[in-house]
Amino acid sequence: PLTVEIDDLVVCHTAGAAALDGVSLRLAPGRRVAIVGPSGAGKSTLLAALMRLVEPESGNIRINGVDLRDLDGDDVRTLMTGLTQDPYIFRTTLRDNLRLAGPEAGEEELARAVRDARLEDWVGRTGWDAELGEDGRTVSGGQLQRLALARALLYDPPVLLLDEPAEALDEETADRLMADLLDVTRDRTTLLVTHRLKGLELVDEVIVLEEGRIAQRGRHDELVAVP
Ligand code: ADP
Ligand code: ADP
Repeated sequence: PLTVEIDDLVVCHTAGAAALDGVSLRLAPGRRVAIVGPSGAGKSTLLAALMRLVEPESGNIRINGVDLRDLDGDDVRTLMTGLTQDPYIFRTTLRDNLRLAGPEAGEEELARAVRDARLEDWVGRTGWDAELGEDGRTVSGGQLQRLALARALLYDPPVLLLDEPAEALDEETADRLMADLLDVTRDRTTLLVTHRLKGLELVDEVIVLEEGRIAQRGRHDELVAVP
C-alpha cells in the first residue's frame, strides 16, 4: 500500500505565473481523492507533476516517504497507472482487447492466469459480459472508456490516476461511466481529475482547485457553491 504526499507544491510552466501555487494533499492507501476545478486551474499540471513530466519549482512529492525525484522512471510508471483521455483499441472484441493487456512480469503462465482471473472478476463485478463480446471497431465512447479503465485496473496499480475520464462523453453516458468507475475503484488508491462535481459523493475527499490554489476541500456534502 502506497501513501502519496504532496507538500506545498509550486509548478511554473513559464516564468512568472504559477500553474500550481502551494498545493498540499495526501493520498492514503485505499482512499479516493477527486480534484475538481475550472479549466486552467492546474489539474493536469498536478497529474503531470505526479508522473514527473514537469519539474516543480518548490515543494515535495513523496511516495511512502521517498522523494519522487529519487525514484527511476520505470518505478514511477509502475506505481501510478494513468487512464488517458484517448484510449487505444485493437480491431477485435473488447474481451480480446483486455486479454492483450495485464501483467507481463514473472512467469508467463502465472501472469496469464492472474490476468484471466482478474478479467473474470471484473466481468462479475460490472456485469459487462455482453459488452465484452462486442467488436472493438464499433464500440461507443463510453465503452471505450470502460475498456481503458478495465485495462488500467488489470495492471493492479498501487495508485490509479484518472484524468477527466468522462470528458468526451454525453451527459447520460458520462453519468453512467462515473458511477461504474466509482464502483470498481472502491478501496483503490485513486486520484480522479474531473471538472464535474456530480456523482462524487462516494469519494473520500474533494479538492477544489482555482488558479493553482486549493479553494475548498472536504467531502462532497461539505462543499459550498462549487463549479
Ligand atoms: P487544468 O488541467 O485545470 O485545465 P492546467 O494544469 O492545464 O489546468 O493549466 C494550469 C495553468 O498552466 C494554465 O494557466 C495553463 O494555461 C498553464 N499551462 C498548462 N500547461 C502548460 C504548458 N505546457 N505550457 C505553458 N503553460 C501551461
Ligand atoms: P479484493 O478482491 O480481495 O478486494 P483485489 O486486489 O482483487 O482485492 O481487488 C482490489 C480492487 O481492485 C477491487 O476493489 C476492484 O475495484 C479492483 N479489481 C480487482 N480485480 C479487478 C479486475 N479484474 N478488473 C478491474 N478491477 C479489479
